[in-house]
Amino acid sequence: MLQKNKVIAAALATTLLVPTMSASAESVSDLKKEKNALDQKKSKISKELQAKKEKIAKAQAEIEKSAKEVSKITVKIQETDNKIEGVEQKIAQTKYEIEKLQKSIEVLQKKIDERNEILKERARAMQETGGQVGYIDVLLGSNSFSDFIDRVSAVNEIVNADERIVEEQKADQAKVEEQQNQVKEKLAEQEDRKKELEDLKASLKKQQDKKKAALTQMERKQAKLNKERKGLENHYSEVASVSSKVQKKIEAEQRKAAEKARKMAEAAAAKKASAAISTTSNSISSGSSSSASVGSVPTASSGTWMKPAQGRFTSGFAGRDIGAGAEYHYGIDIANSEGTPIVAAADGVVFRASPLSTYGNVVMITHNINGQTYTSLYAHMSRFGTSVGKTVKKGEVIGYIGSTGRSTGPHVHFEIHIGSWVNQATGAVNPLQYISL
Ligand SMILES: [Zn+2]
Repeated sequence: MLQKNKVIAAALATTLLVPTMSASAESVSDLKKEKNALDQKKSKISKELQAKKEKIAKAQAEIEKSAKEVSKITVKIQETDNKIEGVEQKIAQTKYEIEKLQKSIEVLQKKIDERNEILKERARAMQETGGQVGYIDVLLGSNSFSDFIDRVSAVNEIVNADERIVEEQKADQAKVEEQQNQVKEKLAEQEDRKKELEDLKASLKKQQDKKKAALTQMERKQAKLNKERKGLENHYSEVASVSSKVQKKIEAEQRKAAEKARKMAEAAAAKKASAAISTTSNSISSGSSSSASVGSVPTASSGTWMKPAQGRFTSGFAGRDIGAGAEYHYGIDIANSEGTPIVAAADGVVFRASPLSTYGNVVMITHNINGQTYTSLYAHMSRFGTSVGKTVKKGEVIGYIGSTGRSTGPHVHFEIHIGSWVNQATGAVNPLQYISL
């Protein structure tokens, strides 16, 4: 991408810069066209950049959403792990219970076997002797009849008790076996549960892997968008830099043009001075009378300056209010019907003849009078009668009265500035010091 930007920059340099710099006689208007094209390009890149930024923000929101989902699944997996662990503990406990029951069963079984063995031995002995020989010794050991009776019943009880104990023990064993079966069932259930949880975990893991992969994809896309954004930013600054170079060139050309105008005015003034060597120099012209013949060109007066148009003097050089609050009026106004000719107030060179903000169609002329540069300005023209670069003589028609720009009716707004044109407020003097109406 960086490489690409360099290529773009190089392309710009060759397509835009080289012809500009090499063509020495390029006009300001051509430069302005070029600058306009560059500025259009700037605004186009700026729009693209905005769109890219919006895309990045949207992608970022998606990434955050996706990351949240991944983390949610991670939590679920953790929970499942905990559950699995719990089930495993229960399984271990159950297995331990089963083992314990198994031991009880074994103990009972051993006791039953032992008693069965004793009973079998006794039965064998009785078979051999045909009676309860096992107990004969007990019975023979009696020392009286009542003792004998006691011993007989005791022997019977012992025999019965042995049998009963065996039965009870068998019942106990059955119960323990049943218990063990129940516990085994429980174990099977727990193992099923564990399997379920492990399946759940596996499916969560699968989901998580998928989402992680999607997230990685998004992050890659985002990185690409960011690279593209950076590229556009670089491209923008390249174009902006070229544009500002062209702007500097325009300014240089304008300065050159103004200098040329000044020199021409100087030459014209020198020529005039040598031609009218005997005439007394008077900067205040006598002018024609105020009874204006509407629509006609004012008669050129004998002085350096003359009034720019026939008409009614409607506003002087001072503060005034035309409805937008008090403001300073940097010139004078001469009203007349639209189309009344406007003339150059003195010899000079036209350096502006185009619309400008509140001035509407305005002509500006550079004068050089006795080594001093002046600028005269004629605003609100309905149309132009001259063009930039033209040398004009005092009294030569340069345009026509109108009401373009900020104007309430057809009139010429006329300014005189000491020095070159800077802005309305700089160098403005009362024109009535130079002309009479
Ligand atoms: Zn005015």
